[in-house]
Amino acid sequence: MKIGVPREIVPGERRVALTPDAAAALAKLGLTVLVEAGAGSGAFFSDAAYEKAGASIVPDAAALYGQADVVLKVQKPQEHSTLGQHEVDLMREGTVLVAFFAGTVFAAKVLVMGAGVAGLQAIATTRRLGAQVWGYDVRPVVKEQVESLGAKFLEFNLGVTDAEDKGGYAKALSADASRKQQELLAEKSKEFDVIITTALVPGRAAPRLITKENVAAMRPGSVIVDLAAEAGGNCELTEPDRVITVNGVTIHGPTNLPATVPVHASQLYARNVTELLKEFVKDGALALDFTDEVINATCVTHGGEIVNEAVKAAMAGERTA
Ligand code: NAD
Repeated sequence: MKIGVPREIVPGERRVALTPDAAAALAKLGLTVLVEAGAGSGAFFSDAAYEKAGASIVPDAAALYGQADVVLKVQKPQEHSTLGQHEVDLMREGTVLVAFFAGTVFAAKVLVMGAGVAGLQAIATTRRLGAQVWGYDVRPVVKEQVESLGAKFLEFNLGVTDAEDKGGYAKALSADASRKQQELLAEKSKEFDVIITTALVPGRAAPRLITKENVAAMRPGSVIVDLAAEAGGNCELTEPDRVITVNGVTIHGPTNLPATVPVHASQLYARNVTELLKEFVKDGALALDFTDEVINATCVTHGGEIVNEAVKAAMAGERTA
């Protein structure tokens, strides 16, 4: 059997697929080693060194490819400018080719649904990891924030004109808009390798963005990370604090991620608690001033009554549901 080692023709490529030592090892196995003249010169291996190792020098690529049963190359085959033919066309039928086919590894495509606090962090992190990232939110105002992190913004026309309340939080969608949203997202979500969901409307169960039919249409090997698992999940199949696989799609449902980074999460929380407490205390004594916007918005019960309007509304909603 004849092993052929051509001279590499990619400009700047100085490597050779076989050194004289390696050629000697193959010759010892009883194989005939053919080396194109000058093949090793870029790596400082002379034709004479190959001959000494038991290889034969052939004058050009045409002669080499015309005889070799196995071709050993560094770069993948190219058009041969001197011979005016592609290296593959110079090979005999049935030739075995060994070369680098590094190819291109495509960046993972990530969709982050819900671009609030957690969503924007997820976008920034996945961008840093090199993914191609898309963000989606019902509040059109976040488009600019998503794009400022280098991600693209998915836009759907749900016919909703007042997606945001005066506090800047999302309002719950109507049943119709929600159904339309699920359909549009179903069409898109098949394209992604990773979907991170963080959609939430304060005081409500997490909006259902990914149905089980959606999951079934996704590529096996894709991953859903449902950060809204604590509030029931944005994905219909999410199981709290479990990692499940459905039709090859892995679904994570972590409910308390901050507890997995206790040092920094405690530092952040302690800072918030301290600042809040400063609002409660005047001259070393507790002084709850309910005309203070912060105290009014954060206090839930006082004097045996529920005093918080949002909590009252949510409780009333629960009782009538
Ligand atoms: P947030 O209010 O800042 O963000 C929620 C986002 O969801 C908002 O931008 C809102 O517009 C969007 N949204 C609401 N309904 C939507 C819908 N139907 N379609 C698309 N987008 C919709 O809240 P957050 O702090 O980012 O938390 C989101 C979820 O992530 C929660 O379940 C929370 O428990 C979880 N989480 C948050 C953190 C954190 O540090 N903030 C950490 C871990 C997990």
